[in-house]
Amino acid sequence: MSFRDSRHGPSAVPRDELEDARRAQLIDVTIDSLAEVGFVGTTLAEIAGRAGVSPGLVAHYFGDKDALLEAAFRTLARVVAVRMRERFALARTPRARVQAVIDANLGPENFDRRTGNAWLAFWGQVLHFQGLKRVQKAYQRRMLSNLHSDLRRMIPAEAAGSLAAMIAAMIDGVWLRAALSEWQEADSESARALLSAFVDGRLHELARVSAADTAHAASDRGAQRAADAEHAIRVINPATGAQLAVLPVDGPTQVNAAVERARLAQKDWRALTGAERGRVLQRAARLLRERNDALAELETRNTGKPIQETRAVDVISGAECLEYFAGLAAGLAGEHIDLGPKAFGYTRREPLGVVAGIGAWNYPLQIACWKSAPALACGNAMIFKPAELTPLTAIKLAEIYREAGLPEGVFQVVQGFAETGRLLTRHPGIRKVSLTGEVGTGKAVMAEAAATLKQVTLELGGKSPLIVFEDAKIDNAVAGALLGNFYSAGEVCSNGTRVFVHRSIHAAFVERLRERTAALRVGDPLDPRTQVGALISAEHMEKVLGFIARGRAQGARLVVGGTRVTSGELAGGCFVAPTVFDYCHDDMDIVRREIFGPVMSVLEFADEDEVIARANATEFGLAAGVFTNDVTRAHRVIAQLQAGTCWINHYNVTPIELPFGGVKMSGLGRENGRAAIEHYTQLKSVYVAMSDVESPY
Ligand code: NDP
Repeated sequence: MSFRDSRHGPSAVPRDELEDARRAQLIDVTIDSLAEVGFVGTTLAEIAGRAGVSPGLVAHYFGDKDALLEAAFRTLARVVAVRMRERFALARTPRARVQAVIDANLGPENFDRRTGNAWLAFWGQVLHFQGLKRVQKAYQRRMLSNLHSDLRRMIPAEAAGSLAAMIAAMIDGVWLRAALSEWQEADSESARALLSAFVDGRLHELARVSAADTAHAASDRGAQRAADAEHAIRVINPATGAQLAVLPVDGPTQVNAAVERARLAQKDWRALTGAERGRVLQRAARLLRERNDALAELETRNTGKPIQETRAVDVISGAECLEYFAGLAAGLAGEHIDLGPKAFGYTRREPLGVVAGIGAWNYPLQIACWKSAPALACGNAMIFKPAELTPLTAIKLAEIYREAGLPEGVFQVVQGFAETGRLLTRHPGIRKVSLTGEVGTGKAVMAEAAATLKQVTLELGGKSPLIVFEDAKIDNAVAGALLGNFYSAGEVCSNGTRVFVHRSIHAAFVERLRERTAALRVGDPLDPRTQVGALISAEHMEKVLGFIARGRAQGARLVVGGTRVTSGELAGGCFVAPTVFDYCHDDMDIVRREIFGPVMSVLEFADEDEVIARANATEFGLAAGVFTNDVTRAHRVIAQLQAGTCWINHYNVTPIELPFGGVKMSGLGRENGRAAIEHYTQLKSVYVAMSDVESPY
């Protein structure tokens, strides 16, 4: 309703409402005037003329020009406050409330020429007029305190204060630039995108620093606040249930920025000689070894694996991998091809560019090393996403690479759930994805990668056979079965969970197995005497216990274990007793499906052909083992087993020198060994003419 309309409005409208409407109308006209003719031109006469009333009437309502301008400024600030309240009502998280502040200021209904010009007119006068200064202060205080209180729930208090001030300054700055450029330089959408990207970037950095600093401190206040953050990753110690850290999730903004940083950094990295790249990897390997104990402890806290394992294997295997590929880096070469006297050819082995690594939760640091070492040695840049359950040691690896002299951006860690993995897999700037994970995830990654024709290496699940022939050394075979089922509480992809034992030694084997399994010490993973630690999560433990229940229900004989362990200090953790089932059949769930827990199935067999056929009767093909003293049979059987990685008279040893990977549904490509080089490089063929060009044209 316009002022003129209201003068002739129905007489039933109460007098107060009419008065309010007149005031509102005059303020509206004042803002129009400020936007069009500025502060100096906005006089009582000007406003009266625009409103079609006498200057006296304007003076009647507002007194003088200063009071009218103060009321107009107050109105502008109130509009922002009201919009902020409306948006707060819809915001569910602290991050969403911060966005509400940004959107209330820069939303399309507010971010326009008229409003901006009026603000600009006021800002020019704020320092000289007490009334305007009061309004400006109240508006700033409100914005800062709203921002500060929400940011404090995501990042430490001191960082929240300065970030709030920066956001407020950027909002004002965007307004100012837009007005000064006569609305040529910014629109609402790009202004909000700019602010959102800035806020996400800073939150990400600050929360990451805070989480890394406090990875050992379950009671960290900043991390506790960050727990409320939208989509935060809560990192839990599965042995105690204690929270270790909270990390923000990386979304499209962070992933895009990481890819861009990697793209730029890779140009210089690939230009180094292999020997120079190798030296950086060597230094990083040395740092890994020096920090073995601290890293092992962090890995144990995050995975629940016994410290006696993480100290002896996880970090050291990573260091060995870096050393191995550091050594290969200088020797990367193509080949010379003789094409007769008039020409020759050669091949160049070139890096792929920016590649992604996506890790599983069972060997977090080792997987990060196994993927990054060959990638970097070959001159690629890598963006690595750890599993969301175990994100901490990859952050440490990134620090170590930096300290070792790896240029910024060549190895980066992004954090998140499957969606962050998908962002990497779909990204057109990434040329390859190496995944360690489940078969279903492998299929999803491969399907997504097809859209941009990325290369993939897939290290997936397994249900591997371990065959014990009648001439095997029983103690060795039992030891192999224990290593292949209970190391890392059975959370090892290559585990030999289907233990085929020849009928003639079956009873003796199972008895020895029972004795040694019952003697395994389940306990606090940080206790060096503990041999079997916690499973990765309560959810996973329930899955494993579900398999045990089905094994019993389907008629397997429980030899030992079969229960959750809750005694004493283990009550709050995810512990399952090492479990052996005997008299299993090929069609039982525990024999067909990957359990990824400490559950072994023993199956009896009578002859070689039979056991080979049964061992191969699975969709998986990751690993296999054979125990026999007959050297001819050992090689004959291994040659017929459908598996990517095999052991004769041992199980689950994975030296870096040997390629590792699966066949059938267990994966594509290989990690480790020289074979990995094939998967992180591409060949360029070059023909070199040494004579004139003979042409029919
Ligand atoms: P998952 O397949 O659940 O996850 C593996 C990784 O992929 C995680 O980082 C996960 O993120 C991410 N991810 C999940 N979905 C997608 C997607 N659609 N696109 C991109 N990334 C995705 O495996 P687990 O972590 O549960 O690990 C256990 C599995 O890994 C077992 O099957 C085991 O056999 C296998 N494994 C194989 C090994 C091998 O070398 N062959 C070695 C070790 C384990 P998030 O965790 O955040 O969901």
